[in-house]
Amino acid sequence: MGATVSTPWWIEEAGAPAAAASLARDVETDVVVVGGGYVGLWTALTLRRRDPDRRVVLVEAERCGHGPSGRNGGFLHGYWSMLPWLRDRLGADDALLLARAGDAIVPAVRELGDDVWLRECGLLEVAATAAQARALDRAVAAARELGVPDEATPLSADAVARRCASPVFGRGVLFRDGATVQPARLAVALRRHALEAGVELYEGTPATRVSEGGVETPGGLVRARDVVLATNAALARWRPLARRLAEFSSYVVLTEPAPGALDELGWTGGEAIADGRMFLHYFRTTNDGRVLMGSAGGTRAHAERGLRRLLPTLGDVRIERDWGGPIDVSADRLPNVGSRGRIHYAAGFTGNGVGPSWLAAQALASLALDADDEWSRLPLVNRRVRALPPEPLKSLGGRVVRASVLALEQADEEGRRAPLAARAGALLPRLTGTRLGLR
Ligand SMILES: Cc1cc2nc3c(=O)[nH]c(=O)nc-3n(C[C@H](O)[C@H](O)[C@H](O)COP(=O)(O)OP(=O)(O)OC[C@H]3O[C@@H](n4cnc5c(N)ncnc54)[C@H](O)[C@@H]3O)c2cc1C
Repeated sequence: MGATVSTPWWIEEAGAPAAAASLARDVETDVVVVGGGYVGLWTALTLRRRDPDRRVVLVEAERCGHGPSGRNGGFLHGYWSMLPWLRDRLGADDALLLARAGDAIVPAVRELGDDVWLRECGLLEVAATAAQARALDRAVAAARELGVPDEATPLSADAVARRCASPVFGRGVLFRDGATVQPARLAVALRRHALEAGVELYEGTPATRVSEGGVETPGGLVRARDVVLATNAALARWRPLARRLAEFSSYVVLTEPAPGALDELGWTGGEAIADGRMFLHYFRTTNDGRVLMGSAGGTRAHAERGLRRLLPTLGDVRIERDWGGPIDVSADRLPNVGSRGRIHYAAGFTGNGVGPSWLAAQALASLALDADDEWSRLPLVNRRVRALPPEPLKSLGGRVVRASVLALEQADEEGRRAPLAARAGALLPRLTGTRLGLR
């Protein structure tokens, strides 16, 4: 995973609430949630809201929201931008069902009522090469074919330039379903709502052993009928999910405030923007006129190169911060939500977890409450996924695929043919029947 170089600016900006105490005795509860990121916090909150008599304990190894949930790019959306992929993977009906279910994500954040810098300005995907343009065309075509053309509006190069006038952008697609948040503020807000709803929270409390019936921590046992595992990429090392998840990384750089440069670009509408790469660049502005550029390429160098290439008019605006974090990649890029006995889990968000963590939490709450409802029947729940190879092939294969796809995309941007080794490496997922690294 990419090293974490500096404290995420988001976490400083949000300010940390006083830490909750660590667990120092045995406790008994109905549900224990392990992990205080978005998935754990939304799940704990949802459980208490749906059944106020249900006792819920949440144990977090460090501080809630200090993992990826407090350090991400803040792109908040569901699945409309993945429609071609969903149709291919789940079929037309379930693709639409899942994408429509995601329409409730942004309202759920809005309804928290906290100032989490929610800006509902859409998700703009732009093509920086011809191959990327073809990928965008597939999104537009799928939306048309499935009868939902308004979910993916094609934009000409001129229309893109009116939103952000980078000389390297060609045409684009605007997804109505797209917002940005200050991610650490969202985590702080969820933590507060969870506490107010009666969730019993222990921070500095790692679960060291998990079994049906509860978890062990250094300070005591938590006995519970239901266990919810919400520990993100750590679940790639949990045996039942080890063949379904791999750990990659994502990395961001954050510039100094440069509101004048943003005015010059005309990028004042707050759009969340991504290019059409597989290991995409994602970029957005902040309330004080900074630019955050993230790269699924997983290093500072990729993120900085993306910033300089995609937004050259920013000139030599200084990078003030950079940080990274783990990404839980699933074999088919969709999260795995399910149960093994009374242990429930959700992981595999593959870089799109800010919004979908809400969906997963609805499903996890339903599973823990034995509710047979729209959430427990979401197509993400208990689905079959082709297994990844066992270790060490999984890590090795993941590194080869990632390096190969990055080399292909780099060559594409530079208008040259990629080396044979990269072309061969990028074929690995097709050969093994997984979808890792495929667009
Ligand atoms: C740099 C970066 C940028 C990203 N940008 C975006 C974006 O713009 N949009 C988007 O949708 N997604 C983005 N993502 C992904 C997104 O952040 C995650 O999918 C999401 O935050 C996952 O939430 P989570 O609750 O599953 O995990 P986490 O936030 O990782 O929370 C898991 C928690 O579990 C705790 N934990 C781990 N092990 C234990 C244990 N044994 N006992 C107790 N606690 C434990 C950890 O300390 C952590 O707090 C990004 C990720 C990174 C790293």
